[in-house]
Amino acid sequence: ENGVRRPHIAVLPTPGMGHLFPLAELAKLLVHRHHFTITFITFAASDNSATQAFLSTLPSSITSVALPPVPLDDIPDGATIETRMSIVTLRSLPSLRTVLLDLQSTTNLVAFLADFFAADGFHIARELGILYYMFIPSNLQFLTVMFELPALDAAIKCEFPELEEPVRLPGCVPIPGPEILTPLRNRSTEEYKWMLHHAALYRQAQGILVNSFVAIEPGPAKILTSEEQGRPPVYPVGPMIQARSAAGAEGAACLRWLDEQPAGSVIFVSFGSGGTLSRKQLWELAMGLEQSKQRFLWVVRSPCDEDSSSTYFTASTKENPLSYLPEGFTERTKEVGLVVPSWAPQIDVLGHAATGGFLSHCGWNSTLESVAHGVPMIAWPLFAEQTMNAVMLAEAVRIAIRPVAGEDGFFYRGEIARVVRELMEGEQGKAVRNRVWLLKEAAGAALSEEGSSLKALDEVAAKWKSFKAV
Ligand code: UDP
Repeated sequence: ENGVRRPHIAVLPTPGMGHLFPLAELAKLLVHRHHFTITFITFAASDNSATQAFLSTLPSSITSVALPPVPLDDIPDGATIETRMSIVTLRSLPSLRTVLLDLQSTTNLVAFLADFFAADGFHIARELGILYYMFIPSNLQFLTVMFELPALDAAIKCEFPELEEPVRLPGCVPIPGPEILTPLRNRSTEEYKWMLHHAALYRQAQGILVNSFVAIEPGPAKILTSEEQGRPPVYPVGPMIQARSAAGAEGAACLRWLDEQPAGSVIFVSFGSGGTLSRKQLWELAMGLEQSKQRFLWVVRSPCDEDSSSTYFTASTKENPLSYLPEGFTERTKEVGLVVPSWAPQIDVLGHAATGGFLSHCGWNSTLESVAHGVPMIAWPLFAEQTMNAVMLAEAVRIAIRPVAGEDGFFYRGEIARVVRELMEGEQGKAVRNRVWLLKEAAGAALSEEGSSLKALDEVAAKWKSFKAV
């Protein structure tokens, strides 16, 4: 390398595969297109075998180092994902400092890239005299909420879910109060305080990369990509998604089954890496799918009656999830349906010609993957910013249909069957399918030469490359 050290980036993903996957794609682009070298700094909480196995598949210019575990036994059992991630980050700062100092002495370290709950590391980057940027594995709508949160917090007198008028944010579709992201729904909670804390840090970033693209969120993109005093530059660089799912034995069986099905005939049903339904809702979904008479491939996870994000950190359940299905269900539906426990090769499934629809929890990675493969959705959000995503997908982007819940918030089988049939065979289904095909083209264009996302990434890379430590 002619004695010139390649610029190095330290990346800190918050735990969760949904954060690591898009950052890994971003890292590959930075390595191949812009010749950076990269270190992933992982938290002990995400330092499990799946994470390590995944990191080991990345190119050799991308290495990783795990932070030592921090004590977490004092955190109450009921603490949410947001609270846990925030505390893990805060307690890991001393070891983060050590790692960054070490990288600074062994590499040409130019920037620290934190993902959305890790901006507490910014002050260390400042101390070291390197750049500090943020990566949002969600979308521009989420970022807008975070930018506006301090002002909203000061302005509103009640809880968000009690607001009579929807929350109107610059460039965004109005968000009904009850559908604001879950950590904001009760202002007296720990997670709410943490979100306010992070919101203030977001504004300190020197730039924010977002896993979205202009065509899917033209409203917020127009606003956030124009300069505003006191707000960091925002770069929509998405969709950063993997080309293929990691191979696995169960995965192969799903794909073989899809090979036997007619083109566009199967609805894929999955709630992401951590989403769980209640026992009763799982049962009802089974009955609804059966009643729809459509072909389905369903990733079933064991139910949890308290917390819809209960398997977020483990992504798998111990008991056999299929034992919670109605008696005789798999037998009665064996001609049209396949149920797989816990995990499926989602990207390969969405890319398969037999897949014609996706009943999804609207996690942002899942959404981008669906768009990139031109698959229209049924929006069934569970937690985090998923309900806001569902509002956007159904009302602004219009690539998703939402089932109507009963007054008790429960989705009944008749309604489930109706939306599934509508998506696969109805007029509304045809309309959302046509729009998602157009959006698929736009997603590809954003990442082509001269595309908006690649240009935004080039701009950031140029800033990082020209940075000289003082
Ligand atoms: N995923 C998968 N198989 C599954 C469930 C999830 O491959 O059975 C992948 C999916 O393709 C996506 C990620 O895990 O890349 C889930 O991210 P998302 O943001 O959609 O949801 P989260 O899991 O963070 O709630």
